[in-house]
Amino acid sequence: METEAIQENKDVIAAGHKINRAFGKAIGDFNMIEEGDKIMVAVSGGKDSLCLLNYMMSYQKKAPINFKILAVNVDQGQPGFPKETLPNMFEEWGVPYHVEFQDTYSVVLEKTKPGKSYCSICSRMRRGILYRLAQERGCNKIALGHHQDDVLETFLMNAFFSGQLAGMPAIYEIESGTCQVIRPLYAVAEETIQTYVSGQDWPIVPCTLCGSQDGMKRQEIKQLLSDLKAKYPDLKSTLFGSLHHPDPRFLFDKELWNGDIPSIKQTV
Ligand code: SF4
Repeated sequence: METEAIQENKDVIAAGHKINRAFGKAIGDFNMIEEGDKIMVAVSGGKDSLCLLNYMMSYQKKAPINFKILAVNVDQGQPGFPKETLPNMFEEWGVPYHVEFQDTYSVVLEKTKPGKSYCSICSRMRRGILYRLAQERGCNKIALGHHQDDVLETFLMNAFFSGQLAGMPAIYEIESGTCQVIRPLYAVAEETIQTYVSGQDWPIVPCTLCGSQDGMKRQEIKQLLSDLKAKYPDLKSTLFGSLHHPDPRFLFDKELWNGDIPSIKQTV
């Protein structure tokens, strides 16, 4: 029993190191955080956003630059949402915060067509609220907790259902140019976050809205990846690696093709 606990502890520590490395690399590779930034960290209360806030705060302590963090939770009016949980945690963690109440829950239920996912309307509405808040609160960046599995699922969904080769940008600017969105956890596997968070005593607030839906495309893709991973353990990291090495010569976008004709070795 004791051995099991020691192993679990080792796994949590190893997961923490992995996240730390991928987080630091993402920030460096995409110049996500700069001197004088005021970064709004979107915290839904799920494991990913709590992990993001935790790493943003520890990076703030050790970074050679100065930047500010504002943790923001959008209380979307979900029944049973524990209103005190996140503010109490923010106080305990000593991070400046803001909780914005907007009942998007009723709108999402009303506007979502039968068989469609709540998440697309819900996340679009929440994103709109965050963009507005960033402007009101003087934040020039918003950090979101999307991870590697989100990237892969989006990539496959785009390829399968939208006819596009596209994942999720690690950093992008909102069209109005007022704010950038960064995803410092984009290269961290969800199971690594899960392992790390399982070793913390953080109060996780799950979403009760989307959990009530079955058979949505994203869940199907998630399941597909998980089934394939059971057979090919490295599949996710290989697929993620492929997003770093596109070869336009073997694709069909004339805008990207530079006229370079590939030379292919003849094998007998
Ligand atoms: S997980 Fe829940 S809160 Fe998040 S977008 Fe989907 S429905 Fe909305």
